[in-house]
Amino acid sequence: MESTYDVAIVGGGIAGGELATRLAREGLGVLVLEKTTTYPDKVRGEWFSPWGVVELKRLGLYDLLVDAGGHHVTRHATFGDDIDDPQAALNGAMDLTQLVPGAPGPLCIRHTHACQVLTDAAAEAGATVLRGVSRLHVCPGPQPSVEFVHDGDAHTAHCRMIVGADGRAGVSRSQAGIGEHRDEPHHLFSGLLVDDAHGWPEDLQTKGTEGNINFLAFPQGNGRVRLYLGYSYEDKTLLSGAGAEERFLEAFRFETVPHSDALANATPISECHSYPNEDTWTDEPFVDGLVLVGDAAGHNDPIIGQGLSITTRDVRFVSEALLENASWSTDIFREYSEERYERMRRLRFAGRMQSVLDAEFGPGCVERRRRIRERSQEDPTLTMPVAASMVGPEVLPAEIYTEEHWARVFGE
Ligand SMILES: Cc1cc2nc3c(=O)[nH]c(=O)nc-3n(C[C@H](O)[C@H](O)[C@H](O)COP(=O)(O)OP(=O)(O)OC[C@H]3O[C@@H](n4cnc5c(N)ncnc54)[C@H](O)[C@@H]3O)c2cc1C
Repeated sequence: MESTYDVAIVGGGIAGGELATRLAREGLGVLVLEKTTTYPDKVRGEWFSPWGVVELKRLGLYDLLVDAGGHHVTRHATFGDDIDDPQAALNGAMDLTQLVPGAPGPLCIRHTHACQVLTDAAAEAGATVLRGVSRLHVCPGPQPSVEFVHDGDAHTAHCRMIVGADGRAGVSRSQAGIGEHRDEPHHLFSGLLVDDAHGWPEDLQTKGTEGNINFLAFPQGNGRVRLYLGYSYEDKTLLSGAGAEERFLEAFRFETVPHSDALANATPISECHSYPNEDTWTDEPFVDGLVLVGDAAGHNDPIIGQGLSITTRDVRFVSEALLENASWSTDIFREYSEERYERMRRLRFAGRMQSVLDAEFGPGCVERRRRIRERSQEDPTLTMPVAASMVGPEVLPAEIYTEEHWARVFGE
């Protein structure tokens, strides 16, 4: 069967759903091809950074996610075995509401729910959304098309542009012949979603390191909290095999985190999956007739929770390029490509710094964290790269993303 659209989007996750909604609302003919029939919880991002919240607003998608239950956290406290007085850390939690103009804090929403809300909005705006597609093959070039099977029938969708939005395990990047760089993983990163964590303050996010565990927690409202654990490759069996969810929660019973029992005693409502924390990136996320957005174009270390914000900015750049240009030559993506390359370079630097600070374990690392925190109280530029995860990588000066800056922080 043959059909014709302006844009065929491969993948109906965050990137695909956002882009389809944006373009369909502007009247373009949009096809979304999604592999799954229901969104499985494979552990993905559920925390939009404040700079990502602003990107959502610029796309006109913020109200949609808030109306669907998106929850703002407004305070941040770091705990762990390098923090001597946890109660003082809690009392002095950082106000997140004023960090970025227009963003009343980070926004938390379950990934599977956000994907569904976005593809529903795309369909409502006029996009055709097909779920359960298989054997998909992209054919970029001057007359792009996508071949796939749906409901047992072979289809060819012709279009003016293919968008690869099929995530880190997608096929569109490699089928289009776009190469990918990958750095060395530093540790493992795992997630679990829990309900009934009613003793945990709903407005408070936390992160920190205790023993051989780096932890993060992001409330979603009504007792639901997304938990993440980072741990060393030496402990790679920690969360493997049967009973992983119980061991994950037991690991969340921290001595240095007030109220952590509320998290450890909560009810798991997802499986836990672990991933290496490495970054990937592309030199140019496009070829003639095809452009990549979101994780398909390369992903950042999840320790700094940037993927949703990166994706949302990608969607803004690509939707503007498509909506503002009559001719869809490769030139319209050059600005996106250059901006993304530098954005990912800076976030790679920030993610690596956060990983070395928070996901290296043992007494020497506790002391190092303590010393760097004390030094950065006197010189706040020191740990500025990690602040990029809140305010956006472009806001801070270029010199903090250099080897010289790294040596200032860790050379001691
Ligand atoms: C452990 C972990 C924690 C994270 N935490 C955060 C966080 O707190 N904050 C944050 O901002 N980011 C976080 N991220 C990153 C974030 O989840 C991703 O960057 C984001 O989901 C990317 O969106 P996407 O649409 O590109 O990919 P996805 O959300 O993965 O969606 C891709 C879609 O494409 C579909 N697909 C795949 N292959 C095909 C195919 N062949 N045909 C059709 N469809 C296909 C998939 O089924 C899926 O629906 C985390 C990632 C991980 C792994």
